[in-house]
Amino acid sequence: ADSAARSAKRAGGNGFAFFEAHMQAGVREQVELARDLRAALAGEPGGGTLALHYQPKVATEEGDITGVEALLRWQHPQRGAVGPGVFIPVAERFGLIVPLGDWVIAEACRQLAAWRDEGLQMRVAINLSVQQLRQPDALVRRFEEALARHAIAPGQLTCEITESVAMDDASATQRALQRLATLGLALSIDDFGTGYSSLAYLRRLPVSQLKIDRSFVQDLETSADARAIVKAVIELAHALSLQVVAEGVETEGQAAVLRGKRCDKLQGFLFARPMPAEELSRWARDHRGSATGLRFSDSLYS
Ligand code: C2E
Ligand code: MG
Ligand code: MG
Ligand code: MG
Repeated sequence: ADSAARSAKRAGGNGFAFFEAHMQAGVREQVELARDLRAALAGEPGGGTLALHYQPKVATEEGDITGVEALLRWQHPQRGAVGPGVFIPVAERFGLIVPLGDWVIAEACRQLAAWRDEGLQMRVAINLSVQQLRQPDALVRRFEEALARHAIAPGQLTCEITESVAMDDASATQRALQRLATLGLALSIDDFGTGYSSLAYLRRLPVSQLKIDRSFVQDLETSADARAIVKAVIELAHALSLQVVAEGVETEGQAAVLRGKRCDKLQGFLFARPMPAEELSRWARDHRGSATGLRFSDSLYS
């Protein structure tokens, strides 16, 4: 801020120059992050390392793990862990989200095969960005290649698409969703409740799951409105034969409300944080038939 203030003074001391100085710093940082992310994707040491972490989704009634969500992590050589909330927008802005998304698809399939080799039959959900969906042919080819290379059944993969992206009426996006569904992937609407979906539209989408946004889950114990919205979303989803997952469940109280409203699956720090692959397979084994009420589904074990 000091150097920004000094450059603002040099520029004549008006507030506008001060603001610009800050904007410049932000952009410079983004350019640096984009450069390092590109290096990470190329496997160059200066880029640090990319990894997927995995967070369980558990069946509300039985407590069994029903699958995991893959969440991208970046360990930067100087900055340490940089969160996806920071680097995903950078990747989107600097044309890196498609190669980054390709890396995620390949890595998730590689990991599914590695788990299968240790006797763990798993399902993985990956998050897709709108720019990936705008190139349907390339996206579908990526999935086909990765599935074939590792002999993974398409039903083992779910694509999470945020509500606003699913509602994107660009014809390429809608074609991409149809083609992913035809390929046999499951589609899930992420952060549901934050957008403005029309029910008629939702019915036409080839989706099988809705994820209730964390903001509603957070307020379940304190807000009658949040409870009413969640109840309505669950009933709507079930009327359309969709499964419902609640994201960001942190307390027993929230889980109890969701159980009472017949939410199908729960995900959140109450059960497990996102964790590296080796830790996830330990977690899955440890919770198999355990007294915590979390059991590992036999159908996921070969
Ligand atoms: P999302 O897909 O909605 O993922 C849920 C986020 O909530 C994750 O944050 C997860 O770590 C966090 N979370 C899970 N349970 C709890 C909880 O109980 N409490 C709280 N406070 N948070 C919880 P994360 O990993 O930082 O990811 C943030 C967002 O970045 C994701 O939101 C997703 O939109 C995006 N993202 C992550 N990985 C990828 C990726 O591979 N590709 C794309 N395109 N986007 C990604
Ligand atoms: Mg997600
Ligand atoms: Mg979400
Ligand atoms: Mg979210």
